[in-house]
Amino acid sequence: MQITHLPISIPWITHRTSIPLLSLSSNPRRIFNLTSFQNPKHSFFTVSFNRSLKSQSNPVLSAMRSEEGVEVDDAFYMRKCVELAKRATGCTSPNPMVGCVIVKDGDIVGQGFHPKAGQPHAEVFALRDAGDLAENATAYVSLEPCNHYGRTPPCTEALIKAKVKRVVIGMVDPNPIVSSSGISRLKDAGIDVTVGVEEELCKKMNEGFIHRMLTGKPLLALRYSISVNGCFLDKIGEGAADTGGYYSKLLQEYDAVILSSSLSDKLSSISSQEATNVSIKPIKIIVASNAEQSLILASSNTVEESSQKVIMITKKELVVETGISNSAVETVVLENINLDSILEYCYSRGLCSVLLDLRGNIEDLEVLLRDGIEQKLLQKVMVEILPEWSTKDERQIASMNLLESKSVKDLHSKQLGGSVLLEGYL
Ligand SMILES: [Zn+2]
Repeated sequence: MQITHLPISIPWITHRTSIPLLSLSSNPRRIFNLTSFQNPKHSFFTVSFNRSLKSQSNPVLSAMRSEEGVEVDDAFYMRKCVELAKRATGCTSPNPMVGCVIVKDGDIVGQGFHPKAGQPHAEVFALRDAGDLAENATAYVSLEPCNHYGRTPPCTEALIKAKVKRVVIGMVDPNPIVSSSGISRLKDAGIDVTVGVEEELCKKMNEGFIHRMLTGKPLLALRYSISVNGCFLDKIGEGAADTGGYYSKLLQEYDAVILSSSLSDKLSSISSQEATNVSIKPIKIIVASNAEQSLILASSNTVEESSQKVIMITKKELVVETGISNSAVETVVLENINLDSILEYCYSRGLCSVLLDLRGNIEDLEVLLRDGIEQKLLQKVMVEILPEWSTKDERQIASMNLLESKSVKDLHSKQLGGSVLLEGYL
């Protein structure tokens, strides 16, 4: 069993790096394979492009331009970048997910994504894939290229060296060591730069990274299930934990999940079923509120040593007899156990996002939830509405009364088989 004492030093946050994990386009294809268009507002491309509309200020058309007779839809390629970047979902923290495609004369000639922190950047992958075809091509990248020396040379220099003609960027990097200097460097080199294409999509994909950069804390999201008549339910919907289910995906997307200690005997069953390129799984965090509970958890044999890491937060260092301790359980001693100190610890480990999952004995998590609301540490909420009624209303979540006067922003719903998932921001 490992023991970690705080305060610990905050590790250096490496900026995005990437290595050629996969060569994704050995056979360049024509880009206007419109069967892959999913957005109905682009359906007019499938017939013909009305050139008379080009000068209008339509936001969709403004992302279009004609280059050497080839019609280009910047938004289309940026969505391709996002699609590529998401192949590394759950694998890149503390770095963001980034995708890049190189387009020449209407063909995607190179593509890549950032697979994991410590490995080269998406642009490096894509440029290697494109080879000499990158010259006079357009590079699409979902996040501003870096302009500093980290573990690899700056991507701006790689793009300049490859002689790309134009760079289209999804969003400016919130990392203070980049903050638009990548854009300036490219422009100074005479490259045509467009910024902000599919910006909301690019931001949404990296909301944890952005929050971490701007606030110095990981993004905290709350999840719970209720009945159709609004009662708390200690379960998730049918199929939610299976491959492709929303709960399985959440466990892949979040770097850590805070769980009730009452779930300690079910920890091995709480894991993402999604296939990933890199074997990184969310850390499970359990707060052991007393010494007895700590010892039970520390020696628990319900946690398989090969499964993802379990962190037990305690107030005091434990002495566990050799032979019964479990090396899959890491003990972290925090003098003051509260949500802020737990998030600070998560930040120090390079985590971008943490899920507070209200399951099991929610009284365990009630204090943390209260901290989250009172200290404005909670940013996002996900509520699964199960298709059933409940008459047991004794398990109401008291600290939610604190939210009474607050509204939920950007509230939207998703159909999940028989359930509905509501998502919004505080
Ligand atoms: Zn870079």
